[in-house]
Amino acid sequence: MQIHIPTPLRAYTAQKSVVTVEAANVTAALDQLTQAHPELRRHLFGEDGKLRAFVNLYLNDEDVRYLPDREATAVHPGDALSIIPSIAGGAPSVVEAPQAELPELTTDDLQRYSRHLILPEVGIEGQRKLKAARVLCVGTGGLGAPLALYLAAAGVGTLGLVDFDTVDVSNLQRQIIHSTPDVGLLKVDSAANKLHALNPALNIVKHNTMLTSANALEIFRDYDIIADGTDNFQTRYLVNDACVLLNKPNAYGSIFRFEGQCSVFATKEGPCYRCLYPEPPPPGLVPSCAEGGVLGILPGLVGVLQATEVIKLILGVGEPLIGRLLLVDALTTKFRELKLRKSPDCPVCGPNPTVTELIDYNQFCGVAGAQESVTETVAKQGAALPQQNGVTQIPVTELKRRRDAGENPFVLDVREPWEYQIANIGGHLIPQGELATRLAEVPKDKLIVVQCKSGGRSQKAAELLQAQGYQVENLAGGITGWANEIDPKVAKY
Ligand SMILES: [Zn+2]
Repeated sequence: MQIHIPTPLRAYTAQKSVVTVEAANVTAALDQLTQAHPELRRHLFGEDGKLRAFVNLYLNDEDVRYLPDREATAVHPGDALSIIPSIAGGAPSVVEAPQAELPELTTDDLQRYSRHLILPEVGIEGQRKLKAARVLCVGTGGLGAPLALYLAAAGVGTLGLVDFDTVDVSNLQRQIIHSTPDVGLLKVDSAANKLHALNPALNIVKHNTMLTSANALEIFRDYDIIADGTDNFQTRYLVNDACVLLNKPNAYGSIFRFEGQCSVFATKEGPCYRCLYPEPPPPGLVPSCAEGGVLGILPGLVGVLQATEVIKLILGVGEPLIGRLLLVDALTTKFRELKLRKSPDCPVCGPNPTVTELIDYNQFCGVAGAQESVTETVAKQGAALPQQNGVTQIPVTELKRRRDAGENPFVLDVREPWEYQIANIGGHLIPQGELATRLAEVPKDKLIVVQCKSGGRSQKAAELLQAQGYQVENLAGGITGWANEIDPKVAKY
């Protein structure tokens, strides 16, 4: 049988996307897989030997958790086992207003939407529903860009945009709602300009803020559908929980490198994101798009799928992706679909929920919230360097001071080789995933300063080295901090 390996885990299977094994059941198949690729084991299984909660297994298109014999289920040649880690039926219309209350179409509308009006599935009534609809796009980045543009073009009456970021030149490779002259502008302003140019009748509501537990319910309340185009687990769980609590459908999309996922969560009858993934992966295990990269066209594909789902939910036509997870692989141009079930144990949408209000999602996902930089902390506190999990955090200014003083600590760069090619500060390169097997390259008698892009992966690597008896410090802010504070010639990516 074949085991499909998702992109984030291919680093541990010598880049193989499919591994063939001969086994009698699911457990034996996984045993063979991890024997052939031992590094994979700790990513799939916890210390208790159980499959980690953020890894789902599908045998063909069925979730193994719901098969009668679960992991003891027999497998046969020709079966496909898919490892689906978390990355990023006909339903009534979500626009519930009676027909008489739907907004009338103007003469301009009749011209603009004529190709819709002649489709029986849309027609005048459908176009009026679109005009009445209120859709919130969470994020105006890679997914939000095509999503918002197509929704605006289709005549969705009110579009809310949530973003707190400004346009950076590195966004333009995929975030096609922004252009080169927009660099430095607030993303909500840049996006609103483009959307208005496309469709001046559109009502745009800008939420120039970071979505948090304190404001999510208030913002979501005014919308019929939430389209989740976020790129981090904290916001994804926050969006999911807020949608479940408010009973609003969530058109979900996520992307990583060459792969995307799409579904519709939090409808009354269907599962939610937590039914699929009750818990997030530990921080650092699944790289973000900023660390792992993303093919620029992929959010275009997935964002357009999300927009398609939004339009269908508004019109009440077709079969939305409720209870179905669509997987997109841009390298092979293959679309696969997996069945999703509403989990009776779901902590938020199950019959006995344990999450009944919004929680602290930074804590839930094990990441630090917005914090002052280590440089600022040190400046305030004097000489004492802060610690995280027992590892001293040194600011980039301190590394610069030591280098200038000729102390030259051993800088260990744990990023990937292609990141090193873009920019480096002369560190010794060992990618984080290879560190455990290349410890011999790290001197035991010297102080090691571990460095990555922004300090997350290097913290994990520093903890690993410290446990092995090395003398280590973590470079807070990573090479990005170095580029910002020490040397602007170092490229940021
Ligand atoms: Zn659920």
